Amino acid sequence: MNLAQFPRRGYVKTPTPIEFLPNFSKALGGKVNVYIKRDDLLPGCSGGNKTRKLDFCIADALAKGADTIITCGAVQSNHCRLTLSWAVHEGLDCHLVLEERVPGSYNAEASGNNFLFQLLGVKSITVVPGGSPMLDEMEKVAEKLRAEGKKPYIIPGGASNEIGALGYVGCAQEIMQQMFDMGINFDHVFVPSGSAGTHAGMIAGFVGNNMNIPMSGIDVSRPGDVQQEIVYNLAQKVLNKLGTGIEMPKDKVVCYGDYYLPGYSRPNDAMIEAVKLLAQTEAILLDPVYSGKAFAGMIDLIRKGNFAEGSNILFLHTGGSPALYAYMPTFRQ
Ligand SMILES: *Cc1c(COP(=O)(O)O)cnc(C)c1O
Repeated sequence: MNLAQFPRRGYVKTPTPIEFLPNFSKALGGKVNVYIKRDDLLPGCSGGNKTRKLDFCIADALAKGADTIITCGAVQSNHCRLTLSWAVHEGLDCHLVLEERVPGSYNAEASGNNFLFQLLGVKSITVVPGGSPMLDEMEKVAEKLRAEGKKPYIIPGGASNEIGALGYVGCAQEIMQQMFDMGINFDHVFVPSGSAGTHAGMIAGFVGNNMNIPMSGIDVSRPGDVQQEIVYNLAQKVLNKLGTGIEMPKDKVVCYGDYYLPGYSRPNDAMIEAVKLLAQTEAILLDPVYSGKAFAGMIDLIRKGNFAEGSNILFLHTGGSPALYAYMPTFRQ
């Protein structure tokens, strides 16, 4: 699929590595070979998946003459950290609206991404209660800035619209080329599924390129059926935007809603085990909110024997490790 038809800033300079995880695979019994796609190593302050999406979103903002970016996220949002990071890089102002999804969880003195918001020089932070209409809240900030003569551009939560999701079509095509170069065929791919741009872009890229590799999304914030509808709708929009004429097959969008409980950003034992296991077998850091829970889901499905002996499984590591430092007591128990 032709991504060159859309403006892009070039934040993704080289393919992120795909690495075999020999010690981790052995720790799981050695029946399957687990590989990891290191999108945690993408450029931008502390890396992560939002860089691929912002590559397209910020290009669109600049094409529209913006001098200011407004976006939103949870109180420890990686997306907010990376949007701010790229705004700094481009010389744009950046304002954040943070949703307190867990009541009382915002703390201006908090560690992790919250600390980085300040260090990177955020222009303003507006905190709103969980469940607030985030687009309206960002529009209020935009209105105020327009009155001051600014030209704000709103990037939705997670940069998960059909512009941002193009970044993960790019990742799908990157993986296709790497598979060829490495001489390896993956039998299954796992992705974390949150605001859905990553999952939707990846599945649109896999379907659009006829890759014939099953993909599972592990939900981090919603039940399976709810998430599936969101991913499916966005994936269809992406295929339309690319002018493919392809109708997204609904059964290709697979979402597991069993692994995020007790709720978004709230720790569970399987996440803690997954983060520790990968750190102690391969020295790779996951995060407590997204990649840790998604990795825990993959571990569970492998342990249940869902994959034939000798299968090659790829996990997309979306980043997020700065949030670990805001969860230290969780891991010290
Ligand atoms: C945002 C995020 C995700 C989820 O990606 P979506 O595109 O929002 O579904 C996964 N992992 C990390 C570390 C993230 O910051």
